[in-house]
Amino acid sequence: MEWEVVIGLEIHAQLAAKTKIFSSASTAYGAEPNTQACAVDLGLPGVLPVLNQEAVKMAIKFGLAIGADLPPRSVFARKNYFYPDLPKGYQISQFELPIVGQGKLSIELEDGSEKIVGITRAHLEEDAGKSMHGDFQGQTGVDLNRAGTPLLEIVSDPDMSSAKEAVAYMKKIHSLVQYLEICDGNMQEGSFRCDSNVSVRPKGQKELGTRAELKNINSFRNVERAINIEIERQIELIEDGGTVVQETRLYDADKNETRSMRSKEEANDYRYFPDPDLLPVVLDPEMIEQIRATLPELPNAKRDRFVADMSLSLYDASVLTSSRELANYFEAVLKASDNKDPKLCANWIITQLLGALNKAGLEITTSPISAAQLGGLLTRISDNTISGKIAKQIFDVLWTGEGDDADSIIEEKGLKQVTDSGAIEAIVDEVIANNADQAEQYRAGKEQLLGFFVGQVMKASRGKANPAQVNDILKAKLAG
Ligand code: ADP
Ligand code: MG
Repeated sequence: MEWEVVIGLEIHAQLAAKTKIFSSASTAYGAEPNTQACAVDLGLPGVLPVLNQEAVKMAIKFGLAIGADLPPRSVFARKNYFYPDLPKGYQISQFELPIVGQGKLSIELEDGSEKIVGITRAHLEEDAGKSMHGDFQGQTGVDLNRAGTPLLEIVSDPDMSSAKEAVAYMKKIHSLVQYLEICDGNMQEGSFRCDSNVSVRPKGQKELGTRAELKNINSFRNVERAINIEIERQIELIEDGGTVVQETRLYDADKNETRSMRSKEEANDYRYFPDPDLLPVVLDPEMIEQIRATLPELPNAKRDRFVADMSLSLYDASVLTSSRELANYFEAVLKASDNKDPKLCANWIITQLLGALNKAGLEITTSPISAAQLGGLLTRISDNTISGKIAKQIFDVLWTGEGDDADSIIEEKGLKQVTDSGAIEAIVDEVIANNADQAEQYRAGKEQLLGFFVGQVMKASRGKANPAQVNDILKAKLAG
């Protein structure tokens, strides 16, 4: 039996507002427990929530960025449940009338194609506090600093059909909220979290299978692993004659398995009702236009511009626009190399630089090689001063900080490419003379020996001969 996978994600992004969504307590991360929770966050009787306008503006910014409907009126609702880290006994969220309605987002798949993912809604809500299980023996502590931190919950349509697609979508949202400067995207600190809803159905079946929800997994890698292991579990279960039950499951990264946490509540278990303490949010069209005017160039617009203006592949362009910092770096390298060869810049950044950064555990913002240095290096490839191979040596020198810029390293180490055809001819003659047997075999038809000769000539020139010229001269001389 062939199975089809269906995935929808609920992403929680902590909004980068300085104060809480309904109080003026600070949202800064890492303070002493319970020093940033005021009477409102603690749910003391007699206090009233006041909506943070900054959080509303950030939600609108997001809505505009995904081309969503922005309903003129949205409503806060109480979602009732009891948990030690939720002192009011309810969470203020939005239910029937969210602030951001249906929108969509384009993602790139590994095969280079594009896919549009629907976004059902995005709503504002408050975060809960944190239960601390590790700090006290036999007891659990509660830190309410996080209580009331503004969250944007972004709910996708069930549009993804593999773990890879789900991660591509999650990364795209992660990049988008950072471009918009509405969330710092820090997954270790929990500023960006994701619940994955996963189901399977026989290929061709119309109705959706029963889903399991995988809770709060804190890295892209683990989202992918958790979804894959859950898909396997569900298929095996059904093929063994069982049925999937709708429930919330926890992913255990150490054991790479998902375990049942609780059966899934239905909306009516939460007894949602409009919060009588808060007025409906009525959006002023003028304010929406003001916010629209502050939008930066968005990742997908940048991506499409790189494809259209610079003939980059969709894949390269999407890697380069995956963060605003990386896109800026790329544009700075291009500028520093006189805009000569975008494809060369893209290749070097994606393969060499990102490879080296990744290996060293560094980010583009902490790259040991500046955009000006890399641009200077690539200029010398474009104008034939050095070969790509020599450029890699220079890259390593720049990386370790032992040289200031490509030009001085080329000068100092005498790495300038030999393009004088007389000089190359002399080396070629010598190499052919020293390898008379191979030359004879080549002439007798064993043309794959050309590579051997190119290697010998490059070696004799200590890598400095211009490879294209070496090829041409060798072919001519060997034929003659
Ligand atoms: P709830 O209110 O119970 O969280 P929603 O209808 O809001 O449920 O859906 C939550 C998420 O689950 C959405 O991202 C949605 O796309 C996804 N989803 C719903 N049904 C399925 C399904 N059968 N398989 C996979 N994902 C699903
Ligand atoms: Mg939900």
